[in-house]
Amino acid sequence: MKTVKIGLLGFGTVGAGVFKLITERCGLLEERSGVRFEIKKILVRDLKKPRKVEVDPRLLTTNPEEVLADPEISTVVELIGGIEPARSYLIQAIQSGKKVVTANKLLLAEKGGEIFELARECKTPVGFEASVGGGIPIIRALQEGFVGNQINEIYGIVNATSNYILSEMSLKGSEFQEVFAHAQSEGYVESDPRMDIEGHDAAQKLSILTALSSGSSPAPDKIYVEGISRITHFDIESAEQLGFRIKLLAVYKQHEGRIEARVHPTFIPLRHPLSDVNGFFNAIYVKGDAVGETMFYGRGGGMMPTASAVVSDIVSVERTVFDPSLLPTARPVSFFSLEELSMEYYLRFTVVDRPGVLGQIANALGANEISIASVDQHGQDKGGRVPIVIMLHRAQEKNVRKAIQIIDQMEPVLDKTLCIRVEPLA
Ligand code: NAP
Repeated sequence: MKTVKIGLLGFGTVGAGVFKLITERCGLLEERSGVRFEIKKILVRDLKKPRKVEVDPRLLTTNPEEVLADPEISTVVELIGGIEPARSYLIQAIQSGKKVVTANKLLLAEKGGEIFELARECKTPVGFEASVGGGIPIIRALQEGFVGNQINEIYGIVNATSNYILSEMSLKGSEFQEVFAHAQSEGYVESDPRMDIEGHDAAQKLSILTALSSGSSPAPDKIYVEGISRITHFDIESAEQLGFRIKLLAVYKQHEGRIEARVHPTFIPLRHPLSDVNGFFNAIYVKGDAVGETMFYGRGGGMMPTASAVVSDIVSVERTVFDPSLLPTARPVSFFSLEELSMEYYLRFTVVDRPGVLGQIANALGANEISIASVDQHGQDKGGRVPIVIMLHRAQEKNVRKAIQIIDQMEPVLDKTLCIRVEPLA
């Protein structure tokens, strides 16, 4: 039986999971693939660090050349994260004819064009199933399962931490800061919290989904990004009363030969299954022109779900001959700017309790060709401030922004207006 020798770059949460899965399931993997997988070397930063799974210390090294320059190692699995040195190691591995697997969404979102181009040139397979949706096999579904489709729409709940925070706020009636602090103390939040709560992690994943669906890796500035840090429990309750739930959604749409790619808090109708995706779960809804509606659901990260996806890549790059059509290209694609789009909106104003304020706001909206669907004026909060909730009919984003800019400068308006876009999913 053929033995494939693997070099792991990184032995943290995911690396340790991959090691555990490959060593514990070697018999099953042999049976299913006809190949024996052996981890020959593992690159780490610190040889003395306690490890999450037991490993022969002789496998560990701090010298990348022991992985990258070893001719016996035919597959390199990058689980370091970040741009450098992960990028340079992957490039060296591809240039030396090794098959590569990575879970690194940041690297693929920022440098995917370069990596995929080099892989094409060197005819090297690249597996990146774990880069989006943890254990959910969404990458292979887009590359292979939906190969006969034009992908028209994707809606993804792809950041587990922000979904956990929004779910806890909804279920326990807590405020953002309280749940966020708890999530941070439990180690659920990335070392740079903006990745999770300001939407950047979701945008990196959307970039990869966009590359696969449109065939071309987007420049990072083509994706609009907005996070969840301004959402309050009041907004969550108001959404529920109006028949919606708030989720941080990654949206891809293809129409009129152009692409929409955006990440922001979104009102989703309570009747849609995405509204019931809670806690650390991820879900990705994909609409193809032949297949129609599909939805994928599962754990968006964690040691073993992510290892499941990485191991599927290790087997897949071994099994399949190099197929350039599986990798996105650098073909130019035209993107819509957010200002060009028309959507429905939820607006929450915070004002002083005084007659005539609502009229002033309504006038500013009307003057910008924005029509109101409903108004709900609430009682004073503890600070004597009054929240006003206005739902808008479909309006142009650029007009909504213009109106909000004017309203936010009005004297009775006490806080920046919160604007949440609505996806009227069927
Ligand atoms: P992690 O726990 O921080 O582990 C990173 C590993 O890389 C550690 O073993 C570390 O060595 C090693 N490393 C870091 N910098 C290095 C350097 N300069 N040279 C050599 N080794 C270095 O990260 P992780 O959570 O496993 O994530 C790995 C990748 O998977 C990331 O791209 C992440 O985005 C992606 N991913 C993670 C999850 C998840 O649930 N964790 C889910 C999906 C995708 P030491 O151990 O010696 O410090």
